[in-house]
Amino acid sequence: MPTTAALSVPSAGSSFEQTTIEQRELRDDDVRIDIHYAGICHSDIHQVREEWGSAIFPMTPGHEIAGVVSAVGDAVTRHKVGDRVGVGCMVDSCGECDYCKDGEEQFCAKGAVMTYNGRGYDGEETKGGYAQSVVVSERFVCRVPDGIGIDEAAPLLCAGITTYTPLRRYAAGPGKKVAVIGLGGLGHMAVKLAVAMGAEVTVLSRSMAKADDAKTLGAHHYQATEDADALKSLRGSFDLIINTVSANLRLQTYMSMLKPLGALVNVGLPTQPYEVSPGSLIGGSKTLAGSNIGGIAATQEMLDFCAEHGIGASIETIPADEVDAAYDRVVAGDVRYRFVIDTSTIAPA
Ligand code: NAP
Ligand code: ZN
Repeated sequence: MPTTAALSVPSAGSSFEQTTIEQRELRDDDVRIDIHYAGICHSDIHQVREEWGSAIFPMTPGHEIAGVVSAVGDAVTRHKVGDRVGVGCMVDSCGECDYCKDGEEQFCAKGAVMTYNGRGYDGEETKGGYAQSVVVSERFVCRVPDGIGIDEAAPLLCAGITTYTPLRRYAAGPGKKVAVIGLGGLGHMAVKLAVAMGAEVTVLSRSMAKADDAKTLGAHHYQATEDADALKSLRGSFDLIINTVSANLRLQTYMSMLKPLGALVNVGLPTQPYEVSPGSLIGGSKTLAGSNIGGIAATQEMLDFCAEHGIGASIETIPADEVDAAYDRVVAGDVRYRFVIDTSTIAPA
């Protein structure tokens, strides 16, 4: 069986080891990708630390994968050796249910196969992108357009599509006021995308520490959420609020910032329930919603949109031996604004 160098955690919450993992032989519809960069998503941390419930170990996380095609199976038509490509959160789905046919593979009736911490339909455990290569069915491989660096492209495969989807669904654009809660990996992509779509964008971050960065990212307004009095002045301000925060928030406060008929969409996925009073929804007929990544066609559309608007993620590139420290910095809200691992630095002993 082929192998690849990878970063792996042996058990929940333990440190990363540089090791070698097995990889399946190429099937007819498979693409092998030489991974150049892998983004660190907060979802990786939730899963490595088993915050979302029981997980599969040893785990090689990573669902923000960018690299170059190094081999293709006999039946592959969409990609060829040398193409710049990316893989996100899913690597397979049934392809036959209504959701798959609609390009919403994340809702696959049979259950989409997650890139890592999952099992393929063959029962094999899936391993993610903190590795030097990965084998994926061509249907789940997207083209990285020219004009986006392969390093700044990696985070688009999760942070990009996860924020693009609700911005499109709730029609962010000219004349719409959009707020983004939390300026981290997802949050900074939400800002760049909403600005490019033509919306008027406000960042709601805990302190003033990221105010200058928010302006550089294109945000029009900025408000520190630790200033409770100033928050009151935002009542009834926004058509759409995207909550990217990885921890529990008092959502009630933010529901009041929506205009009538406005929507607050949660993409952040903390473990504790939110408390929301029915009155905060019914007064103003507001929507409280969630949103889960996005389909493959939408992911390609998002990548093309980013190329057209000159958007990549804002990244800090790190070598393999700094991933544990990077996790702590992400949890502390101290990432500007996505760590990507240079996978060429993975060196098993
Ligand atoms: P991240 O880079 O850590 O960003 C989260 C931001 O939330 C931080 O930068 C911080 O922003 C704010 N924050 C953190 N702790 C907080 C606290 N205790 N109170 C208030 N604000 C806090 O994480 P990410 O990678 O963007 O992911 C964010 C969340 O989305 C995670 O829960 C992740 O699992 C989830 N996610 C969901 C999907 C989906 O499909 N729905 C996809 C990917 C990720 P400030 O410093 O600006 O306040
Ligand atoms: Zn992610």
